[in-house]
Amino acid sequence: MSRLVMKFGGSSVADIERIRNVARHVKREVDAGHEVAVVVSAMSGATNKLVDFCRELSVLHDAREYDTVVASGEQVTTGLLAIALQTIGVEARSWQGWQIPILTSNAHGSARIEGIDASEIIKRFKERREVAVIAGFQGMYPDTSRITTLGRGGSDTSAVAIAAAIKADRCDIYTDVDGVYTTDPRVVPKAKRLDKIAFEEMLEMASLGAKVMQVRSIELGMVHRVRIFVRSSFDKPEDIDPHSNQPPGTLICDEEEILEQQVVTGIAFSKDEAQISVRQVEDKPGVAAAIFGPLAEANINVDMIVQNISPDGLTTDLTFTVPSSDFEKAKATIAKAQAQIGYGRIDSATDVTKVSVIGVGMRSHAGIAAKAFKALAERGINIRAITTSEIKFSVLIDAAFTELAIRTLHSLYGLDKS
Ligand code: ADP
Ligand code: ASP
Ligand code: MG
Repeated sequence: MSRLVMKFGGSSVADIERIRNVARHVKREVDAGHEVAVVVSAMSGATNKLVDFCRELSVLHDAREYDTVVASGEQVTTGLLAIALQTIGVEARSWQGWQIPILTSNAHGSARIEGIDASEIIKRFKERREVAVIAGFQGMYPDTSRITTLGRGGSDTSAVAIAAAIKADRCDIYTDVDGVYTTDPRVVPKAKRLDKIAFEEMLEMASLGAKVMQVRSIELGMVHRVRIFVRSSFDKPEDIDPHSNQPPGTLICDEEEILEQQVVTGIAFSKDEAQISVRQVEDKPGVAAAIFGPLAEANINVDMIVQNISPDGLTTDLTFTVPSSDFEKAKATIAKAQAQIGYGRIDSATDVTKVSVIGVGMRSHAGIAAKAFKALAERGINIRAITTSEIKFSVLIDAAFTELAIRTLHSLYGLDKS
């Protein structure tokens, strides 16, 4: 007997037929004798609709009320799945975040899980083999007893946190693809499914744009050593062996568990970037501080930074990227600090994409990035900015070249499926 967390994303619970299908997946595991906690997302599109309602009423809406509204999508799914399970003879009960409780910080809209009391759920596993159907994405801030949400894609994080709290043998993330691929399979049909991916690599993939898992869920999995499988909910429930501890899909695990490590594991991309160039700034000590200080104070995350060498020794250009959601705010912040910075003009672009190449093998191999620069140049793709770190590098390019760049790099590093 094992203890499992099964998480189903929005597309897996998109309509009643799919919820029935999910119930059959759960029944399979229960019939095999496993103790099961299910974590569900809102039905596909539901959260977007709820977010739009809030925005329509007020762009600057109260974050506590936003959470009250958007958390409701998951409530619906828990009830529906509990009914679907009961209908096929499986004991099941729904749980909202506050009922368990899943306690979080008070950062409404992007709260962090701080504690979970799983004792009642475990008691019910033992006493009546009851399946817990838990709302993902939501929790409660204990000081005010108000509902919080964990940020978009947060059900992944709920699932991994529950898995850690109940000491699950495995946390299965059921989604609309059958695992983690070398890059988004919807963009590159030649992408290959990975059998295993290291936590560090998945963390980079997720932070750099691969939305298959929320970043925070991987951080939690790493800290609590949760075995996470990404797999498809569209596989036929009856075709799967519930006793296999290596189900079809991708295992996210420690680097040491991966025997045949490739140099490059995957490619991620993000279109949520904007570029700002501050032109003709004086080339003297303190200029970077004058620009990035006010941005930090305004809580704006600066990512890539490039400073040109000044041709005349007097002025230089400083280019950096910020999340597109902070673009206007960043420009206004720089304009406000014009007197302290002293610059000629600001240029900016939002039609840019950050393409990132990831692999733990980069630690021990030189020249991986240089190969990419050459290949992109040969295709006439201009690189606007570059960043590198131990296990990844990123290039900022014109958005129009996104697919060409990803496909070029995917082939270059031998990732195409044969
Ligand atoms: P869910 O609703 O189940 O949470 P998401 O839409 O959040 O599902 O995540 C699954 C999607 O992530 C896939 O449909 C796929 O398009 C996208 N994706 C991006 N990068 C990757 C990748 N490297 N491997 C697999 N899927 C990826
Ligand atoms: N329903 C939430 C969202 O769409 C959480 C999730 O699906 O993980 O962001
Ligand atoms: Mg998701």
